[in-house]
Amino acid sequence: MKRVGVLALQGDFEAHGIALSRAGAEPVYVRTAGQLEDIDGLILPGGESTTMLKLLQNENLMGRLAEFGKTKPMFGTCAGVILMANEVTNPKQQSLGLLDLGVERNGYGRQIHSCVTHLHPDGSFASRTSPGDLEAVFIRAPIIRRIGKGAKVLASYLKTPVLVEQGRHLAATFHPELTPDDRVHQFFLTKL
Ligand code: GLN
Repeated sequence: MKRVGVLALQGDFEAHGIALSRAGAEPVYVRTAGQLEDIDGLILPGGESTTMLKLLQNENLMGRLAEFGKTKPMFGTCAGVILMANEVTNPKQQSLGLLDLGVERNGYGRQIHSCVTHLHPDGSFASRTSPGDLEAVFIRAPIIRRIGKGAKVLASYLKTPVLVEQGRHLAATFHPELTPDDRVHQFFLTKL
């Protein structure tokens, strides 16, 4: 069974652990650099990216995560996408630079501060999981304003990318760990 880390410094890491178990992987709650040695991939959960960033800097984990992401798959959700992007605005913020994306924090503004909707993922997502709409929960989500050439949009909402794949990495600006549908986690597991 694949062992998948979930960064467990802050945010909704437990929901990811439960979703991973349901999808058929063993979750490992990662709090130290040493734990990165024996996992096959890593999830950066939603939460508050500024707080997570401070904790990562305090634990000297930023460099270690960037290294990890050079060879192993990482999956960021919401605040996790902010940490993985190479450009963050509103305000500017340090990040891991693993994804060629420009993200604006809280970019959908007050109108969709938080909402639940249905996405229509593209054919390549369906072919590696199973077909059907995807329920998506957005909570003070970042908006993806720019997307690099190497990135592929798997689902959009309000004409903006919300599920993006770039090589071994995956990014969702919504919260797939908060719905009973495990296809986004299953999709990530196909990358390990
Ligand atoms: N608004 C948060 C941030 O900017 C992200 C919200 C979330 O992860 N649900 O870090």
